[in-house]
Amino acid sequence: MPRLRYAPSPTGHLHLGNFATALLTYLRAKSTQGAFLIRMEDVDEQRSKREFADGILRDLEWLGLTWDESPVFQSERYHLYEAAMEQLRGHTYPCFCSRNDLQSLASAPHGISSEGPDYPGFCRDLSPEEVLANSREKDPSIRFRIPHRSYSYTDLIRGEMEFVPGWGGDFIIRRSDGMWAYQLACTVDDLEMGITQVIRGADLIDSTPRQLALMDVLQGKAPEYAHTPLWMGSDGHRLSKRHGDISLRDYRESGFSAEQLIGWMAYYSGLTPSLQSISLPELLDVFRWENIRKSDVSVQVTFDRA
Ligand code: GLU
Repeated sequence: MPRLRYAPSPTGHLHLGNFATALLTYLRAKSTQGAFLIRMEDVDEQRSKREFADGILRDLEWLGLTWDESPVFQSERYHLYEAAMEQLRGHTYPCFCSRNDLQSLASAPHGISSEGPDYPGFCRDLSPEEVLANSREKDPSIRFRIPHRSYSYTDLIRGEMEFVPGWGGDFIIRRSDGMWAYQLACTVDDLEMGITQVIRGADLIDSTPRQLALMDVLQGKAPEYAHTPLWMGSDGHRLSKRHGDISLRDYRESGFSAEQLIGWMAYYSGLTPSLQSISLPELLDVFRWENIRKSDVSVQVTFDRA
């Protein structure tokens, strides 16, 4: 049975871009007789808030995107990440570089990904003595040593994707303040929860080879991946408050109906031919995976009270 998850970070309210991912994941799960699961990615203890998690669940419920198992909170699963660290032993190393050390690289001829500039491997080959000496000064982050090989997969929306050797550089799986990094927590959980398909925004495409590399070492079966179009304002930048994008809670409290928002989202995602309200069961009836638009969505957000 297919198992799909929607994995928001509860660091704010649900916005249109998050809603698109949640809706497409729900439709895919239900149209393939699969389970729709929720995972709160709240490992960033400073930015995550329980009230945001509660608010996200309330919004999803209001939209009718009901989940099939109790929501999972990453903050309750640190033991799994500890265990994975053990399995990754030999593939990791302590890194003492500070954000400032690496900042200057942003203008250097390295690739830039959502994780920042490619890590050039300064701490990759430190001797035990160097590690010891550095450890007296500061706590290290832990990086995963990426294998020198390419990774490819077939994206269910974008087709064949290939990442050549060296992509992105070694990445952090545990921060120097002890917090677990997204790449590790997400990979461990997708495996542990038996996720068969991951649907998420295209901004996370370059996380996929990283997670595939971790899964190789953890000896898990990788899910299939689909990266959905991003929601852009009319100026070509990611949709944000600047463009008048407001949270779903604001829409709800201003009198919009779930059918109006679902209709809007369905139309802009390429699922329906015209802009009109639609209920979730009606949308499920006409939902065809291949209709999901492949290019980013440019929207003009005008907020008129319903
Ligand atoms: N927590 C991530 C976000 O909210 C999504 C991670 C994922 O779907 O892999 O952007």
